[in-house]
Amino acid sequence: MKVNFDIAGKTAAIMGGAGVLCSEMAKQLAKKGVKVAVLDLIGDKAEEAADEINKAGGKAIGVESNVLDKDSLILARDIVLKEFGAIDILINGAGGNKKEGTTGPDMSFFDIPLDALQWVFNLNFMGTVLATQVFSEVMVKRGKGNVINVSSMAAISPLTRTISYSAAKAAVSNFTQWMAVHFNQNYSKDIRVNAIAPGFLLTEQNMYLLTDKETGESTPRGKSIIDNTPMGRYGRPDELVGAIIWLSSDASSFVNGAVIPIDGGFSAFSGV
Ligand code: NAD
Repeated sequence: MKVNFDIAGKTAAIMGGAGVLCSEMAKQLAKKGVKVAVLDLIGDKAEEAADEINKAGGKAIGVESNVLDKDSLILARDIVLKEFGAIDILINGAGGNKKEGTTGPDMSFFDIPLDALQWVFNLNFMGTVLATQVFSEVMVKRGKGNVINVSSMAAISPLTRTISYSAAKAAVSNFTQWMAVHFNQNYSKDIRVNAIAPGFLLTEQNMYLLTDKETGESTPRGKSIIDNTPMGRYGRPDELVGAIIWLSSDASSFVNGAVIPIDGGFSAFSGV
């Protein structure tokens, strides 16, 4: 049998699609002929990202949508369906961390506000569950589809300081396995649920932890990451795309419930 990486003509809904990592996925999927719905809490940014894709000859729409609000997700799903007729791929990329939910010199574990922990947990985990509930219903009706969650290295073993983010991403990886089994057992053998676990990419969400705001130099944490990444560097957003294309295509037709590290070897290295 021929290995088939072709994804042209498919439709993807990308949550957090205006963000650094997912806008790159959106662009690259569109270049492969995928019709892309860029969904984001910030509607203007979603439309901008979609415009850029359309100007480059792709097919995209930008839709404002909040992964923590079921009505907003239903509205967005119906717009995507009206425009594209189907949803083949769902990428759950809305997520992030915030300083108030992170321990550090100015924030001890004992003082950390519960609402900050809850905010981070909800965005990363509940947002993934809720968006999957709303968008995968369509896949269940057609009997096929592909869900790709965005986990993190913080799921494999917790990263220092990021208490709620690490827990939420561990929950995302766990949910990926749970959902893969649940869909196959209850709805269809042709729905697959997988995740990617990116290593360290220097983006907005972690910049304050990894580089000194004043000097632009690496913080001790940033240095430790590079020292513990056998490839000796941060990743780039485009380096996540190959796995997304693979997971979206028939080339991965027997890959299900998997969490794929894309981390320059970070998770393989014990530090010794
Ligand atoms: P980003 O902040 O650039 O993108 C996140 C996007 O999600 C933003 O556009 C934001 O507007 C959107 N968003 C926030 N709340 C939302 C909500 N309630 N509903 C809908 N959209 C919402 O972040 P990023 O670095 O591109 O990260 C994307 C994903 O990758 C996240 O899940 C993140 O946890 C994960 N990740 C990032 C890294 C990294 O190094 N940057 C590493 C591992 C995993």
